[in-house]
Amino acid sequence: MKHYDVLIIGCGVTGAATAYYLSKNQLSVGVVEGCNDIGCGATKANSAILHAGYDPEPGTLCARLNIEGIKLAKEICEKLSVLRRELPSLVLAFTEKDMELVHKLYEQGIENGVPGIRVLNNAETLEAEPMVNPEVLGALYAPSAIVDPWEYTCAMAETAVRNGAEVNLSCKVTAIEEKDGVYTVRTTGGDFTASYLVNAAGSYASEIAAMVGDHSFTPLHRCGQYYVLDKSEGARVNTVVFRCPDENGKGVLVSPTTHGNLIVGPDAYIVKDGKTVGTVAETLHKLKPSGKKSVPSIDFSKTIHEYAGVRPIAEDSDFIIRPSEQSAHLIHLAGIKSPGLSAAPAIALEGIKILCEQGLTLTPKENVIDERKVIRFKRLNEEEKAAVVKENPLYGQIVCRCETVTEGEIIDAIHRPIVPRSIDGIKRRTSAGIGRCQGGFCSTRVHEILARELGVSPLDITLGDDGSYILTGETKEVR
Ligand SMILES: Cc1cc2nc3c(=O)[nH]c(=O)nc-3n(C[C@H](O)[C@H](O)[C@H](O)COP(=O)(O)OP(=O)(O)OC[C@H]3O[C@@H](n4cnc5c(N)ncnc54)[C@H](O)[C@@H]3O)c2cc1C
Repeated sequence: MKHYDVLIIGCGVTGAATAYYLSKNQLSVGVVEGCNDIGCGATKANSAILHAGYDPEPGTLCARLNIEGIKLAKEICEKLSVLRRELPSLVLAFTEKDMELVHKLYEQGIENGVPGIRVLNNAETLEAEPMVNPEVLGALYAPSAIVDPWEYTCAMAETAVRNGAEVNLSCKVTAIEEKDGVYTVRTTGGDFTASYLVNAAGSYASEIAAMVGDHSFTPLHRCGQYYVLDKSEGARVNTVVFRCPDENGKGVLVSPTTHGNLIVGPDAYIVKDGKTVGTVAETLHKLKPSGKKSVPSIDFSKTIHEYAGVRPIAEDSDFIIRPSEQSAHLIHLAGIKSPGLSAAPAIALEGIKILCEQGLTLTPKENVIDERKVIRFKRLNEEEKAAVVKENPLYGQIVCRCETVTEGEIIDAIHRPIVPRSIDGIKRRTSAGIGRCQGGFCSTRVHEILARELGVSPLDITLGDDGSYILTGETKEVR
């Protein structure tokens, strides 16, 4: 049975960030992920904002780790070539009550240490974002950023693997036993032992805790739905436009994405578990009036996709970052609601600090890898394009026409340290299939390339997680 000094359960952004930092040390680090790819929980479906940090209540872990996390995220994205764009955020006020809330958020922001934050009046708001509803009374302005959350997670996990960590996919933890200071972790993909465990299982963190008899938290699950609009709407705004938050969260936002689309969402409603991530027609359409109240000119006829994500909301509403009450070498990184994406690297460092308090010794490795290069063909200039095609003609074969993704990029993604086995895995790594036709044109080609490069039958390729097969029966080549 494979033994790890530290085994991380769950490879969302929290688990990936923890693996990234731990793997810089002389330790054996393992990750077990229940899905057939990383980042398939809350990390896959969110607003992708690196929040400025004015929203969390001062004095909470959420507040401190949000501020620390976005600084670390900036460095990580630069080093690991992750798509990230800086742009201001605005919290719009349409009533005097909203305006009071804007002032409260401003005070919180100052207390939390958010730089560059200020309150704008009507004219200043419209100057900052001419597309917002002119009825706006004012807004809170704060510097913020958007990121590709999935690529961010992948970049950290890949770098961890390059530094010696092992990511075991399709290994859903089903039981944990503890004997003489060693954990035996039973998973659907085999068993592992470990001296320390990190519980980064997102919506399922309470189930992992319960496996060691720890019933100290039972989070609620809150779902949020979004519209994704075509790139023709992507430049509709050049700021992240929020509404004033309420007890359900930060409200419906309108924001560009790092891929050049526009998203409108989320709403917020309680669901029974982390798996309830489908959109619901009866409620989804209610996002439209909210989005249009902020930015009246949004053209929802340009919608190309809809999605929903679920985050766990802890009962006391702060992140749960502490050793298990039942088993002190199991560290919970749980209840990671928003701003979990923003805070992730700081959450990881906080968790590692606790591991050390519990006896883990860190000795830094020499020659750690802390860089990553990715060719994004469409972002190159003509000269650079010619050079990469000369080097490898497969960069001259366009597979996804909507997003201009080449065969060279798809093959590179397949041969990276964490191997995708599904069409969605390629979509997340390369953006093939995220565009206007939503993979209608390229998915059969991606399917074929995946099977060829992995040396498996096309029957074995799935759309998403294990079991979501696309083809059954015999395949024949037709010319
Ligand atoms: C609608 C919405 C909008 C959001 N917007 C933002 C935002 O704009 N900015 C921001 O900062 N944050 C945002 N968040 C919050 C952010 O997405 C989360 O805080 C973050 O992604 C949590 O990451 P995680 O790794 O802790 O959990 P997850 O991403 O859920 O990862 C947990 C992983 O554990 C795995 N797992 C679960 N059970 C097991 C098991 N038994 N065995 C093995 N593996 C297991 C899962 O498969 C999953 O991959 C948003 C969240 C939602 C839902």
